[in-house]
Amino acid sequence: MTTHKLLLLPGDGIGPEVMAEVKRLLGFFASSGIASFATEEGLVGGCCYDAHKVAITEETMAKAQAADAIIFGACGGPKWDNVPYEVRPEAGLLRLRKDLGLFANIRPAICYPALADSSSLKREVVEGLDIIILRELTGGVYFGEPKTITDLGNGQKRAVDTQVYDTYEIERIARVAFELARKRRNKVTSMEKRNVMKTGVLWREVVGEVHAREYRDVQLEHMLADAGGMQLVRWPKQFDVIVTDNLFGDMLSDIAATLTGSLGMLPSASLGEVDARTRRRKALYEPVHGSAPDIAGKGLANPIAMLASFGMALRYSFSMNQEADWLDAAIAAVLDQGLRTADIKSDGMKIVSTAEMGAAIVDEVERLAA
Ligand code: NAD
Repeated sequence: MTTHKLLLLPGDGIGPEVMAEVKRLLGFFASSGIASFATEEGLVGGCCYDAHKVAITEETMAKAQAADAIIFGACGGPKWDNVPYEVRPEAGLLRLRKDLGLFANIRPAICYPALADSSSLKREVVEGLDIIILRELTGGVYFGEPKTITDLGNGQKRAVDTQVYDTYEIERIARVAFELARKRRNKVTSMEKRNVMKTGVLWREVVGEVHAREYRDVQLEHMLADAGGMQLVRWPKQFDVIVTDNLFGDMLSDIAATLTGSLGMLPSASLGEVDARTRRRKALYEPVHGSAPDIAGKGLANPIAMLASFGMALRYSFSMNQEADWLDAAIAAVLDQGLRTADIKSDGMKIVSTAEMGAAIVDEVERLAA
């Protein structure tokens, strides 16, 4: 049995609570002999600031570089609202993304039939939805320089953020989009704002060139990002893979979150380049939600986004498709049985805690694996 190296970074708020359910699943995999994971743990975000006055330590960064996959909970919270900007909790996650070159953020938006009524949209619009938002994660306006606030000396200040994209950054994210689409319904929708942004003009041009050169078999359409947002809530099933930049991807994937009922249901994967020698890629898996300080420590958090993120690690980092399928089926089965955490509750369903939901899912995986 190969041993895979995992770095667990539970983080702040509900992060440790939902990570406990991943540990429960790892415990089952180890005890049943299905897979062996060598796990290490580290601090990130506010808890790391409290202990070391930084958002992530060099020691944890070294562990992250050495891991086959990083499983990340969530970081941040009002307690750290006033810490210096450079060491704010999010800086730990941004450093991981940047230093590991995690440029491709895959966010599936899947609407389980059992949950179609918890969406703010009509059942027929969302039932059976299965799309991917692919967000470029290491470029664009979140990282571009200059990034400044200047005092103009006349009682005014000027804030500048810079949106920058180079050809290679657009090419590599476009390739991930086309490769994903080939394994799904073979359609890519590229979203930008070419009508008002130069980066949008280049984005469209480069995605079109990569398509014409390497992926003619995949259907490609271009859409302005604002129109795309509207289409996402009007008829989301028209999409298969949506590829877009860092800023638009951040917003559009949160819109997609609404479609599926709760932030607590949404997993994500962030992948780096494939290493030509080892054929492996750096990867970080995390739920889309944050640290949910309003419910932290109360056993109310939905662990499904975290568990499904680990499921993506099984699929994308370890090619353990069978185990990932078991986990997906276990989540669907437990929802069908009527178990609900508070965020996805509806009439007649049984409300369970974070740990009860996690235990029910792991029991179901155990049944499927028997
Ligand atoms: P949030 O995702 O933490 O919470 C938004 C709402 O969704 C809250 O009402 C919360 O209770 C609920 N929610 C989120 N996850 C849930 C789950 N698993 N189960 C049940 N309910 C869930 O977003 P926010 O409130 O805007 O941010 C809170 C903190 O998290 C902030 O400090 C923010 O900076 C940080 N944050 C971190 C990340 C990350 O670590 N990747 C992402 C987003 C926000």
